[in-house]
Amino acid sequence: MTDARRHVPRTDVVLADPRLAEAIRALGRTAVKATIVATQQRVRAGEVHPESLVDVVLSALPEHATTLRRVVNATGVIVHTNLGRAPLSAAARDALDVAAGTTDVEFDLATGERARRGRGALAALANAVPDAGAVHVVNNNAAALLLTALTLAPGAEIVLSRGEFVEIGDGFRIPELLAASGARLREVGTTNRTTLRDYQAAIGPDTGFVLKIHPSNFVVSGFTASVGVRELATLDVPLVVDIGSGLLAPHPLLPDEPDAASTLRAGATLVTASGDKLLGGPQAGLLFGSSEVVERVRRHPAARAMRVDKLTLAALEATLRGPTPPVRAALDAAEDELRIRAEKVAAGLAGSGVDAEAVRCRSAVGGGGAPEVELPSWGVAVPAAWGQRLRVGTPPVVGRVHGHRCVLDLRTVDPAEDATLAVAVTAVAGVAGVAGVADGSSHPPAPNRAGAPGPR
Ligand SMILES: *Cc1c(COP(=O)(O)O)cnc(C)c1O
Repeated sequence: MTDARRHVPRTDVVLADPRLAEAIRALGRTAVKATIVATQQRVRAGEVHPESLVDVVLSALPEHATTLRRVVNATGVIVHTNLGRAPLSAAARDALDVAAGTTDVEFDLATGERARRGRGALAALANAVPDAGAVHVVNNNAAALLLTALTLAPGAEIVLSRGEFVEIGDGFRIPELLAASGARLREVGTTNRTTLRDYQAAIGPDTGFVLKIHPSNFVVSGFTASVGVRELATLDVPLVVDIGSGLLAPHPLLPDEPDAASTLRAGATLVTASGDKLLGGPQAGLLFGSSEVVERVRRHPAARAMRVDKLTLAALEATLRGPTPPVRAALDAAEDELRIRAEKVAAGLAGSGVDAEAVRCRSAVGGGGAPEVELPSWGVAVPAAWGQRLRVGTPPVVGRVHGHRCVLDLRTVDPAEDATLAVAVTAVAGVAGVAGVADGSSHPPAPNRAGAPGPR
C-alpha cells in the first residue's frame, strides 16, 4: 500500500465516533481505545480498509467487560467445579444487581447508625436451619474450617479419623489446611476402621475438638467402621462436622449426604458447609452451631480476613428466600420431562438435517458430592468430533464425549436454554435454521403432559 499511514483515521477522531459511544459506555474508554489501536495497525498493514475501521473495531470488541464467558453446561454434572459450581437463580442474580451499587449492607436506614453486616442473609440462613443457635458466613468451606481450627484449637489438637483424611480436588487436602492453622492433627483409627474407643483414647487435656469430615468424593467399602455424629457427641469435647455439600435438610435422592439440621440435632457443636454446592448459592462457607461457639468464631481476629462480600450476602439471601435454585431444579428434574425435552430438541435438529438423536444418559451430582449416585437422564447425542467445536462456539456448550458420540445431557441445561443449545449445535453442524426448536418456545412440559409422547 502506498503510504497507508496517512489514511489511518486518528485515534481521537475514531473515539469520538457516535457508533462507538455505546461500547465506550459498556466497556470503558481504555478497552475501546486498545481495540482501535490494534485495528489501526491492521489498516497500516493493508488488512483493513480505512473506511471500515469503525465496523471492524465494533466486531472485534467483546460483548462484556469480563473475559469470563457464559457457558451452557451440558455435561450432566450438576455441580461442575470447573464451570463455576452452582449457577445462581434469577432471584440471586437480581439481588447481585441490587447489591452491586451503594447498599445498606451494614447500615440501618431508619436510625442512621451502623447495623449488623449481612443481617438479612444471616436471618435467612438461621431461619432455614432452626436447630442452629447461631450462624456465620465466610468465603468458602475451607475458610470455615480454618477459622474453626484457629478459634477452637490454637496450639491444641484436632482429633480426626484416618479414614477422613480427605483431598477435595486440585491438591486441596483438608488435613494440610487444618495444620496450617498451627493446630496439631491427632490421627485415630485406620483407613478403613475407626471406633469410638479410638477417639476416647486420644482425647485429653490437649484436645481442641473432634472433627468429622464427610468423605464426600469417595466411598470405602468392605471391612469398615466409622463413628456417627450421635456417638461422637457423647465425648466430652466440642464436635465439629464438615458436611461438605451444604444440604440444609435431608434430600430423598441423596440418602448418604449429611445435612446441617440432622447433624446439629445429632449433637454436633458446629457444622461447616459450602454455599455453592447442593445449596445452589454463591461461593460461601456456612457455619451453624451453638451461639457461644459461633460467637467465638465470629470474634476471632482472622474472621475479618475471611469476611464475605456484599454480593455474596445478597445472592445467598436470595437463594435461601427465593424460588428453587437451578441446582435443586436439576437434581429434582423428572426423567420424563428430560426425555420430552431431548426428543423435542433432537427432532428439531434432525428435521433440519442435523445428525442428532435423543438418548438416555446418566447425570452425576458432582462438586465432590454423592459419588455413588447416578441420576437417569436424557440428552441429545451428536458426533464426538463436534464436542470440541461446541466448546469454542457461541455460546460455548460443554458436553460429554463417549466413544463416537458427544452427549449433551439436558438435566444440567436450563430448559429456557434448550433453544440456545439447538442453535449452537446447528451452527457447528453447518446447517442453517432449526424449525420448531430455535423459536424460543421451548418450555418445560406442563405437569399434566408429563409422560405424553414427544413432538416426533
Ligand atoms: C467441597 C468440600 C470442601 C471444600 O469446600 P469449599 O467451599 O470449596 O472450600 C470441604 N470439605 C468437604 C467435605 C467438601 O466436600
